Amino acid sequence: MEFEFSAKTRDFQARLLKFMDDYIYPNEPAVAQQLQANTDAGKRWSPIPKIEELKKVARQHGLWNLFLPVDSAKHSGYEGAGLTNLEYAPLAEIMGRVPWASEVFNCSAPDTGNMETIARYGSEEIKARWLKPLLEGEIRSAFAMTEPEVASSDATNISTSIRRDGDHYVINGHKWWTSGAADPRCAVFITMGKTDPDAPRHQQQSMIVVPADTPGLRIARQLCAGLAAAHEVGVLHRDIKPENLILEQNGNAKLMDFGIARPIRRSGPGHTEQGSFVGTPNYSPPEQLAGEDVDQRADIYSSGVLMCEMFCGKLPFSGSNTMEIYIAQTQQEPIKPSAYWPEIPPPMEAIILRCLKRLPQDRFASAAELAQALAQLRG
Ligand SMILES: Cc1cc2nc3c(=O)[nH]c(=O)nc-3n(C[C@H](O)[C@H](O)[C@H](O)COP(=O)(O)OP(=O)(O)OC[C@H]3O[C@@H](n4cnc5c(N)ncnc54)[C@H](O)[C@@H]3O)c2cc1C
Repeated sequence: MEFEFSAKTRDFQARLLKFMDDYIYPNEPAVAQQLQANTDAGKRWSPIPKIEELKKVARQHGLWNLFLPVDSAKHSGYEGAGLTNLEYAPLAEIMGRVPWASEVFNCSAPDTGNMETIARYGSEEIKARWLKPLLEGEIRSAFAMTEPEVASSDATNISTSIRRDGDHYVINGHKWWTSGAADPRCAVFITMGKTDPDAPRHQQQSMIVVPADTPGLRIARQLCAGLAAAHEVGVLHRDIKPENLILEQNGNAKLMDFGIARPIRRSGPGHTEQGSFVGTPNYSPPEQLAGEDVDQRADIYSSGVLMCEMFCGKLPFSGSNTMEIYIAQTQQEPIKPSAYWPEIPPPMEAIILRCLKRLPQDRFASAAELAQALAQLRG
């Protein structure tokens, strides 16, 4: 069996070792100092200027995208350094001697795996939008698989659902440990979920590309704008929940499914009997669960539940049936979002908790008022 490195690998090894000596090791103190400065300024995950500078130099030296295997590159129409995985492995070992060095050569995780996935399986449109800037080192990416509720080392446990709905996909789940998600350059998430829960155990999962520029605050504002428009024409939604908030391809959120909507002001008793419940228990306010008459402040409450889930990954009240949820709502305080996401801005938390007030008169009076409160937040 032949164990010798190829001539190509030996050439890259020599050039890489020289680059490490000339540019990487001498800059370890500078990078450490810039990382500390970022951390002190509260932007721990922001780009480090020295690394950005060295990326240009590495590229000039032809030490760029070494990771992209020659067969994946051929698939994609985009170029790497023309190495096989076997030829790349000893180069990865050299870069690994300094924790941040691989980024200088555009060879760092999780981008490498994500780029290869897109190169092999992405459409031309997805490759042009995400692979090209990733290979140029202009943006970064993240891989969202691990979930708090399940043992995530086994992908068959993953519980995030990905459901096609016309031209859109509705993704419902909670991810954590997503490396690189806090980097301001992170532009795209490859997200794993179940697209076909009825398929054989190992064929239920798939992955979807999710643009990162759909932050919660913007979605919350768009939800409010949609709700305010509905309320303005006298329509109550009554079923605000993640499934009814559709993310369009451009990242804009749209409130959908007015299936059980009804006029805010009714002249008669309407189709829904007093004392009967319509809606989705986890997202409905206590007065709706009790089958009492509701007004626009019921939608405000449901928006609060949705925002709570969006910002901290938890429902404010839990229960396995409508009665348990009602009892929790009327006898307990909602969870504090900051207990699950300590970085949540305090004014955002205050808005959520005001939406979740037990009595309608203690909530925001209208979607317009809620929208105004959200508009005053930065971001
Ligand atoms: C630095 C770092 C970066 C990370 N980056 C990412 C990222 O970018 N994206 C992402 O999605 N995740 C990321 N993760 C998360 C990481 O990949 C997960 O923590 C890992 O997959 C394990 O999943 P888990 O935490 O649910 O542990 P579990 O799956 O609960 O496993 C815990 C232990 O139990 C064992 N175990 C689990 N199930 C069984 C079983 N059925 N039988 C026997 N033993 C079992 C496992 O082997 C392990 O030893 C990162 C983690 C770290 C530490």
